[in-house]
Amino acid sequence: MKRVFITAAALLLLFSARSAEARDISVLIKQNAQQCTVSGTSYYITAPGAAASERSGQLTLSANGSMLAGANTPYSLPAEITSKNPITVNGRTYRGRILLDGSSGSFNIVNIVDINDYIKGVLADEMSPAWPAEALKAQAVLARTYVLEGKRHGKYDACAAIHCQSYSGVKGESPAVDAAVDSTAGEILKYGGMPARVHYFADSGGCTASAMSVWHKDVPYLRAKPDPVPASGPRSRWQATFTMSKISSSLAAAGLYSGSVNSLRPAERDESGRVKKIEITGSAGSRVIEAAKFRLALGADLVKSTLFEFSATGGTSQGYNTASQPVYSSLPPAPQNNRPVIVDVSTMPEKDEDILYWMAQNKIFTLQELVSMIGKNKEYPKYVAEGKRRIAAGKGAQQKPVQPQPAVQQNLPPAGARLSDSAASGSSVTIYGRGLGHGVGMPQWTAKALAESGWDYRRILDYYFTGTTLEKVGS
Ligand SMILES: [Zn+2]
Repeated sequence: MKRVFITAAALLLLFSARSAEARDISVLIKQNAQQCTVSGTSYYITAPGAAASERSGQLTLSANGSMLAGANTPYSLPAEITSKNPITVNGRTYRGRILLDGSSGSFNIVNIVDINDYIKGVLADEMSPAWPAEALKAQAVLARTYVLEGKRHGKYDACAAIHCQSYSGVKGESPAVDAAVDSTAGEILKYGGMPARVHYFADSGGCTASAMSVWHKDVPYLRAKPDPVPASGPRSRWQATFTMSKISSSLAAAGLYSGSVNSLRPAERDESGRVKKIEITGSAGSRVIEAAKFRLALGADLVKSTLFEFSATGGTSQGYNTASQPVYSSLPPAPQNNRPVIVDVSTMPEKDEDILYWMAQNKIFTLQELVSMIGKNKEYPKYVAEGKRRIAAGKGAQQKPVQPQPAVQQNLPPAGARLSDSAASGSSVTIYGRGLGHGVGMPQWTAKALAESGWDYRRILDYYFTGTTLEKVGS
């Protein structure tokens, strides 16, 4: 076996010089491990006071006091595994190098990896490489911004789990992922000269939530935004059924309600339509609890978001609650030309807000126009008048827009506006919900839909993180 003699101190110097230049990221793969299995072709293990020895094939290393047992000679902790080739640890393959960081009894397994290789790994885990390039680019910028914003685990930048950003090493790398990361190299979102605190999640259900509503933190660029186009994720709509006795026992176990529950009612919603508070009525009287705690008590995997209702009847006339379709699915795409639109005005509802939805369904307004109107209640009569004028002219939505499209949209979304606040009672309760995740930042399924409708990644990011700037950092 060839042996290369380099002192640990010299190696450390070499690596620290390289890391400053290449912006390496430290990813905590596993905390307090007792053992790990390493394999690869031509890798070196270095440890304090030991010569770097070249190895190939598989090696199982175990913590034994302050030493790593398993090799011919025990290594002291911390030890480092380097190679020109990817290294496999516990069945997953990583670029960069592996640090077995610890001093006694156990060690942390850490992947020290070039930031672009890290982002490629995150992107492969967080989005399908088959998604449109602009969605992948938006995700790449967010993954880079997230990890440069601050260290999340003590001295390590991030963990490899969903707690930070899901990362599985080289698995899933593809030309599409490489292109998204390489073409946005060095780009991050900044706010006030610093990397912005960005978030993303799977599916908004029609509208994102503000950081204020979810985390009680007022972040100017994390406000509620209605999705400009419909997303069609597998969790854009969902439902979950529980027996009332299961709800009672779950709430009791979580210390939220000690009696037997008779009924549940959304008592307060935020500006995105997400339930903030739920009123519980039962043998222990009436009590208002936080919807976020209610969700956790029943299981966040079952109650996938707090954008829900207990009745499938609310807003039926708009079609929002009648089919397993995303919020906007009942709205047709904007007409492609100025062809006359035939509208049956006898079906026009009475309330201004309802009329506007009806007009959008009947192609009198585009979805974009509708989104720009929602929440501006004082303007509704004006919009309705414009819609009636268009109907009278026999023309659809390709007429001059009601007003210029705002870049920022912070009003009440259709989703929240259409959800029912009616109570649930009886022996079982079905929760009808939309979206998946905490709701703050960029919804990945909507990013996909926006990319498909022609938005580039800059526009997607500007929409969900209005107020931040896209800047290049030294890469
Ligand atoms: Zn983490």
